[in-house]
Amino acid sequence: MKYDVMIAGGGASGMMAAITAASNGNRVLLLERMEKLGKKILATGNGRCNISNRYMDENSYRGGLPHFPYSMLEEFGVYQLIEFFESLGMLMTEINGYYYPASLQAAAVVDTLVSKIQNLSVDVITGFEVKRAEKRKDTFRVYGNGKVFEGSNLILATGGCAQEKLGSNGSGYLLAKSFHHSITDTFPALVALEAKGKYFSLISGVRNVSRLIVYANGEMIAKEQGEVQFTKYGISGIPVFQISRFAIDALRRKKKVKVILNLMPNQMTLPETAAEFLKNCPYKSVEEFFQGFLNKKLVYGILKRLHISPEKSVRKMTEQEFTQIISMIQSFEVEITGYKGYDMAQVTAGGVSVKEVIQGTLESKILKGLYIIGELLDVDGTCGGYNLQWAFTSGYIAGSRIGKL
Ligand SMILES: Cc1cc2nc3c(=O)[nH]c(=O)nc-3n(C[C@H](O)[C@H](O)[C@H](O)COP(=O)(O)OP(=O)(O)OC[C@H]3O[C@@H](n4cnc5c(N)ncnc54)[C@H](O)[C@@H]3O)c2cc1C
Repeated sequence: MKYDVMIAGGGASGMMAAITAASNGNRVLLLERMEKLGKKILATGNGRCNISNRYMDENSYRGGLPHFPYSMLEEFGVYQLIEFFESLGMLMTEINGYYYPASLQAAAVVDTLVSKIQNLSVDVITGFEVKRAEKRKDTFRVYGNGKVFEGSNLILATGGCAQEKLGSNGSGYLLAKSFHHSITDTFPALVALEAKGKYFSLISGVRNVSRLIVYANGEMIAKEQGEVQFTKYGISGIPVFQISRFAIDALRRKKKVKVILNLMPNQMTLPETAAEFLKNCPYKSVEEFFQGFLNKKLVYGILKRLHISPEKSVRKMTEQEFTQIISMIQSFEVEITGYKGYDMAQVTAGGVSVKEVIQGTLESKILKGLYIIGELLDVDGTCGGYNLQWAFTSGYIAGSRIGKL
């Protein structure tokens, strides 16, 4: 039997494409290498699935052509996604601009998609990895598990390389390459950064709201504010994920990367306030005194970095030492030496060049009937629901074009 549409990959983008293509009356086959559909979705947003975001601007997406996704996001963006899920009986809730399923359970998203896929009689085969694909005359063939399937259109929705245990193993790049598509440089994004300094073992475990400014060879390349998590190896947390792409890109270009953290970004008058407090607390040690401002472990780490004894009485603290401590609180310099790998990354930066797909249909410019969607393309979003939104948007765009035009 020949399908109208075959889809390699049953993640967010592939499931959305299956639903929209089948809703158009197409006979659809969905092939997934894992034992179940949507395994990665279950892990998103700490199991709550941050599906989209109310706020979007020109910095929400990155890639070779950062503006590429926006016209499609206008056609099927957050409000259309909310309507789509409501039409399938699932309500969404918004928390500070971030959208989640109302149940705050990622499983609700997967179950909603899977039950619609069944309702539309999409043929689903799990535990099937597409190993090879080709097109002869008007027919695509996909091979795997000793079987071959045929279809008029093929959608590649295999994701990137992030977290292979959740399904995406980079095989999509090989499939795209076999159809002569080019792959831009790929690397982990939305990931923790490794840093130089023995003091990290002293401050590991601390979470602190900070402002971060990233410099590459002395030039500012990114800034962000939020709760930073200090670890044994360096820095993590959402603001670090947000800047990671820029820092990693610079490291890969052999630039010297440093992050300057203001550990008290909301305290505009820190030197004056600290000087004032000092008058009332001459009986405290330096460590005790600065604990009035900052996490104890951070204070200890700063004093060790500055070679100032934590037990020293503030009476004996010199003016120079006081200034050094204040300036390290406001400009805590971290030298970035590396980054965690795909096993810890949320997304892959880079992918199939978007110059080779048609903006607005996502059909290959190289081969008619071939569509490439989701994270497999050279599009990556910032942290906050933008990657799932893109996966769903691109799945909708490709799936709804087939059989319509
Ligand atoms: C831990 C974690 C948390 C995240 N949290 C969020 C979040 O809260 N919000 C957000 O917006 N984004 C989040 N993301 C990113 C988001 O999940 C992805 O960007 C999005 O799921 C990509 O969708 P996709 O369909 O392109 O690829 P994937 O979801 O990776 O799906 C690809 C599917 O294809 C299958 N596959 C791969 N190769 C083959 C093959 N050859 N044959 C058959 N099947 C194949 C895979 O098994 C997989 O099921 C998170 C990612 C991770 C890892």
